[in-house]
Amino acid sequence: MKVYSKIQMDKEEEMQKIISRIENCKKCDLWKSRLNPVPGEGSLDAEILFIGEAPGYNEDKQGRPFVGRAGKILDELLNSIGIDRSEVYIANILKCRPPNNRDPDIDEINSCIEYLDKQIEIIQPSIISTLGRFAGEYIFKKYGLKYDKISKIHGKTYRVDTLFGHIYIIPLYHPAVATYNPMIKNQLFEDFKVIKHLS
Ligand code: URA
Ligand code: SF4
Repeated sequence: MKVYSKIQMDKEEEMQKIISRIENCKKCDLWKSRLNPVPGEGSLDAEILFIGEAPGYNEDKQGRPFVGRAGKILDELLNSIGIDRSEVYIANILKCRPPNNRDPDIDEINSCIEYLDKQIEIIQPSIISTLGRFAGEYIFKKYGLKYDKISKIHGKTYRVDTLFGHIYIIPLYHPAVATYNPMIKNQLFEDFKVIKHLS
């Protein structure tokens, strides 16, 4: 039998509470059209937390993050640096799919973001890698950084201090862009090496 430390038990209980709240959440209108909420998944002791934008068609169907085309690229990127999905945590800014994958709106983000904030507190990652503009903008603001054009800042490392120690923030292009832009895909593979070196 696996022996869990008290801290581990607490983390699992805390995450389960958040997941239950998300499953019952009606704080914005997206619950009406979702098939499944997508709270996020991975190791609660993950050193690296990836944050995307919102569930898409496949994620909504399966209730799991990054399982469609963008997810396939994320898997390739993780593979390229020898990291398994099970070692990291993958979450999104919004936990429910916006109809037709439209952009999240500001009220939806404001309603939903407490769940991500709590997930960060539970996991206490040492690296947060943002995928795309919505995650980048939120995380930069949260830690007092100024977000700039992704073409300027992708793959750079920003060190911030938090109550549980320092975190490295690495903004990246969204892997969905790589599905139609091979230059961005190459850039993502390069930028992932930065994650590898820090972890
Ligand atoms: N795109 C995202 O931003 N998140 C997902 O979970 C899937 C695709
Ligand atoms: Fe609740 Fe977030 Fe889903 Fe809106 S997107 S219903 S705030 S879990």
